[in-house]
Amino acid sequence: MTAAIIDGKARAARLVQEVAAAVPAFAAARGRAPGLAVVLVGDNPASHVYVRNKLARTAEAGMRSIEHRLPADTREADLLALVAALNADDAVDGILVQLPLPGHVDADKVLVAVDPAKDVDGFHAVNAGRLATGLPGLVPCTPSGCLILLKETVGDLSGAEALVVGRSNIVGKPMAALLTAASATVTLAHSRTRDLAGHVARADVVVAAVGVPELIRGSWLKPGAVVIDVGMNRLVGADGKGRLVGDVAFAEALPVARAITPVPGGVGPMTIACLLRNTLLAAHARAGLPPPVAL
Ligand code: NDP
Repeated sequence: MTAAIIDGKARAARLVQEVAAAVPAFAAARGRAPGLAVVLVGDNPASHVYVRNKLARTAEAGMRSIEHRLPADTREADLLALVAALNADDAVDGILVQLPLPGHVDADKVLVAVDPAKDVDGFHAVNAGRLATGLPGLVPCTPSGCLILLKETVGDLSGAEALVVGRSNIVGKPMAALLTAASATVTLAHSRTRDLAGHVARADVVVAAVGVPELIRGSWLKPGAVVIDVGMNRLVGADGKGRLVGDVAFAEALPVARAITPVPGGVGPMTIACLLRNTLLAAHARAGLPPPVAL
């Protein structure tokens, strides 16, 4: 068996088109395009790349972006004041505060300062609670993207043994909640898990969100498993060149799995596409409009 490669880049491009197709109707109803405010504090090079990509896709979808780049020594109070101003601005439908924030800023305090109705990252405790209790709300982008890829690869997840490795608030926990809502039987593993390989061996679906390069070996996988690799680990080779690898040993997994996402080109593009989808959904909800049918 050679695993099918799940083309997240192509699926994300389709999702961006679906979002773009729904923008004109919103603009006609409201007299403006949906607006996404992106706040970037400091000089983290990876964050700059992410923000650049997010802004480019936002423009591609015909939405308006409002960019706020702040110096690394920005005071927490000033950042909170900016978030409050964005909350109050009716033309802003989504607010994204790019993480990580500098160490002197309490990220949790900033994230809960965002109006939950504009929380397009889905990180606010209100939205996390809504997801956990099965109420509609804004769902974190990376697990949303993983679920789209999984549903299209597996079909019905009902009864599937699903293993999520990693329990962060932004990926692992919401992923486990989404899989539970899809009626999978979910195991959530983390750094204290005993016998990770044994859990992997039982899983029909593995979602790896750890941040440890190639932690999950191909020989651990159940033959025919579907693997979603969220990990993005930058390694520097002997030649000094950087390369991205996932949390799963991709070459080892290929002959065992039924399908697998590549790194890069798997989950990453879906994350950005789901951010645009969340912005459009937030815009509709705030305007009292029903969500666009295609989304
Ligand atoms: P965090 O560092 O917040 O969480 C990592 C999780 O992995 C923790 O729950 C930790 O356990 C667990 N863990 C660490 N080591 C092990 C181990 N040896 N065995 C089992 N579990 C372990 O990371 P994130 O969730 O933010 O990100 C995870 C990865 O996904 C990173 O590589 C990140 O770059 C990538 N990412 C990719 C995105 C994309 O769009 N493609 C978006 C977001 C993240 P414990 O809780 O016990 O410490």
